Amino acid sequence: MESTTTGTPPRAVGHAVGAFFRTALRPLVDVVLPPLCPACRDPVRDAGALCPGCWSKLNFITRPYCERLGIPFAYDPGPGILSMQAIADPPAYTRARAAVRFDDVARALVHALKYGDRLDVAPMLGRWMASAGRELLADADALMPVPLHWRRLWARRFNQSAVLAQNISAVAGVPLSTALRRARATPQQVGLSRAERARNMQGAFRVPAAAKAEVVGRRLVLVDDVLTSGATLDACAHALLRAGARQVDVLVFARVVEAARAPI
Ligand SMILES: [Zn+2]
Repeated sequence: MESTTTGTPPRAVGHAVGAFFRTALRPLVDVVLPPLCPACRDPVRDAGALCPGCWSKLNFITRPYCERLGIPFAYDPGPGILSMQAIADPPAYTRARAAVRFDDVARALVHALKYGDRLDVAPMLGRWMASAGRELLADADALMPVPLHWRRLWARRFNQSAVLAQNISAVAGVPLSTALRRARATPQQVGLSRAERARNMQGAFRVPAAAKAEVVGRRLVLVDDVLTSGATLDACAHALLRAGARQVDVLVFARVVEAARAPI
């Protein structure tokens, strides 16, 4: 059969017209369609903000918590008490703080930021993180996002930790550093035991010689979206301390909290 050599097939025209309208009318569409809640996709008044229902379901982490790991306590054991975990298996970083518990709404927000191209949620998360990490940021010389391997960065087009760090920097006035790099790609951590996660992360991060000056003698705050086992952040802290950092703290948006964790 002879193919059409003149004109454009109707389907392609349809696509072209659709693309034209999407591009040309974008500002109008943004005005006409209400912004959607990044967690449940209900209409909201302000772009990048949560609907009241999702907002009420978020669990912000406040004191009392372990001063070292930031794990919330079910009751107040008194000032300066550490969690069992902090004593039995202390991480390389000095202090960790998280804005919220990693539950359904927090997961939806992280997902929207990471895979849903909802970069408009980043300023809100950045503000909450800056507030949760106020003490850490007051002492900090620089913010250090957990780096993505370039292959993952290429696939996802941006590093969510760097986006969060930029937004915290804008609020807290602490400068950003990218001295920490991925030395190699690491397999996904899902389904691995704690020991396997730690092994998986060994040697995954490094500070290149040219960037050492950004690390030596400095107090750094590592920034990531979620703290699960802490293996990734621990490996990052090890790499920074080996490169001469004076202190490394950790600030994340959400952390996994096991139910009914009581102080010792
Ligand atoms: Zn919602």
